[in-house]
Amino acid sequence: MQPVFRFAPSPNGHLHLGHAYSALLNARMAAEIGGRFLIRIEDIDTLRCTDALVADCLDDLTWLGLRWEEPVLRQSTQFARYRAAAETLAARGLVFRCTCTRSDIQKAVGANSPRDPDGAILYPGTCRHRPVGEGPFALRLDSREALATLSGPLHWRETGEGAEQVISADPAIWGDVVLIRKEIPASYHLAVVLDDAMQGVTHVVRGRDLYAATAIHRLLQSLFGLSAPVYHHHTLILDEEGKKLSKSAVSTPLRQLRAEGMTAAEIRRRLGFG
Ligand code: GLU
Repeated sequence: MQPVFRFAPSPNGHLHLGHAYSALLNARMAAEIGGRFLIRIEDIDTLRCTDALVADCLDDLTWLGLRWEEPVLRQSTQFARYRAAAETLAARGLVFRCTCTRSDIQKAVGANSPRDPDGAILYPGTCRHRPVGEGPFALRLDSREALATLSGPLHWRETGEGAEQVISADPAIWGDVVLIRKEIPASYHLAVVLDDAMQGVTHVVRGRDLYAATAIHRLLQSLFGLSAPVYHHHTLILDEEGKKLSKSAVSTPLRQLRAEGMTAAEIRRRLGFG
């Protein structure tokens, strides 16, 4: 089977050097093993991800010298699929409706209550066993029920640092994650898992900031009966001398560098793709 890689930006702002590194790394790893290379636009947040930002994002990637397979999947065209998938979990009793606002959650627990890897307070289960009233609701995964469906521990293959490793996934650290948001009929975790599977992605190459999210992705893959890609979480990008780039350098928009006269070849060289 031909390997499939994807770069999956969320164009809620302009792409920066950190994105360029991730995109170039995906393309290089795909080329090295004769794989296909896709771009997927993760624009479920349709208010922040405007058409203009999506167009700029593709333009920046073209300018960098990247080429990919068409058509580009835009997640904003897939909401019905995400909802239908969440409904299949609902039919199995694995999700519940939740009306809590962020401040409801804060009020229900103390300030020192446990947090998920993103720093959000772990959901205290307020709506898990109560009928919700009128008004908008989110669909949350009932993590206890979901974990009870597993026949054994979850793992993933990780190639991010050194030799390939098998990492054990502990999805419980995420608690009852939101699968369908109140205001958006999807969530990052649900959409990414469904689309990686639909597009036949075999290699997920992305930033280290998403390492912890892989545990919940593995759980969702297991619930939907989907096979897991190999994961490669890359660390901070390095400049050509192998020094760590500062946070501000990493987040410099490509458009700004381009306007300042930097060429795509210079950027590729600076990021170690010369
Ligand atoms: N869209 C996500 C982001 O830009 C990345 C998703 C992924 O690579 O899994 O942070």
